Amino acid sequence: MAKIFYNSKIARIFTFLKDFKTIMLFGAVFTEEKELSDRAKFHEASHVEQYQTLFTTGLALAVGIMFICFAFDCYGWWMSALIAIPVFLYYAWYGIEYLVRLIMYRDADKAYRRITFEQEAYDLENEYLKPCSERLTASSFSFFKYYRKRDA
Ligand SMILES: [Zn+2]
Repeated sequence: MAKIFYNSKIARIFTFLKDFKTIMLFGAVFTEEKELSDRAKFHEASHVEQYQTLFTTGLALAVGIMFICFAFDCYGWWMSALIAIPVFLYYAWYGIEYLVRLIMYRDADKAYRRITFEQEAYDLENEYLKPCSERLTASSFSFFKYYRKRDA
């Protein structure tokens, strides 16, 4: 399980917009609460896994761009900015998907719930009720399957 920061001021700053109290930031979990329920931990664990998947993808992308730049002799210190790709890819994806769904549904709560990252996290947050050997967890691009599910 990822690192969890309790009574977090960072969580207070980042969750002021909605009545949420917990947020996953860059692979760690920040919460205003003193404790987190198992359900909340499992929810956030899915987001951590999703973040790691997109971080790795972003890293591969950044390295690819780096090689192309070297090949075309256009390298420089600006290339250190490529690190922003793995660090922020998850949030860019999350934000763009939220905006697209907001336009589709014109309903902020529905748009949020329909983000594939959230669909998967809400689907898997009750897995703690099962015995360990039967638990499903997010892995790699498992959130992709929610793009194939028909919207109800
Ligand atoms: Zn969530």
